[in-house]
Amino acid sequence: MKCPYCKNHRDRVVDSRTVGSGSEIRRRRKCLSCGRRFTTYERIQESVLYVVKKDGRREPYNRLKVLEGIQRACEKRPISRSDIENIVNKVELDLYEHFDREVTSRNIGELVMRELKGIDNVAYVRFASVYRAFEDSWEFSKIAAELGGTTTGRSRSSARDASGDSPQAQGTSPYPPPAVRPKRGT
Ligand SMILES: [Zn+2]
Repeated sequence: MKCPYCKNHRDRVVDSRTVGSGSEIRRRRKCLSCGRRFTTYERIQESVLYVVKKDGRREPYNRLKVLEGIQRACEKRPISRSDIENIVNKVELDLYEHFDREVTSRNIGELVMRELKGIDNVAYVRFASVYRAFEDSWEFSKIAAELGGTTTGRSRSSARDASGDSPQAQGTSPYPPPAVRPKRGT
């Protein structure tokens, strides 16, 4: 640590103590050249990843949102809770490996779809069909409402890679209605 007085780089720590809620360490140092003391603070780097929404707004990455989104897509599918956890883990590994600080909601959606595609086609198509809403809002609760509700209003299929047989048969929703959950405060 460079001494603020004489710019020497050699010092000795004379006292260390945690401050705040233990996330910070305060050190008193003594310069070995000029003998003066100074203080440094050491803090855990918060590795908060921010999700950039389509409108440019940002919000902290939230694992639960990804989890719930996948859960909805996997409702009534033979996919276990631990499978879903695994998907989220893989997605997160990718996120933290390839994105520093910021990731777009689109990127996350694509990662989720890539994982689902290899596991369950129905879940994949479900997720793909609400992909745009996912991208727009980064709000899985809204997506869930859309899943159970009026998907017939939309003529275009947003499931781009979906196989030929349309998963969105007009009139009848192939999706089970989602369980209504109390909206969580943000
Ligand atoms: Zn000094």
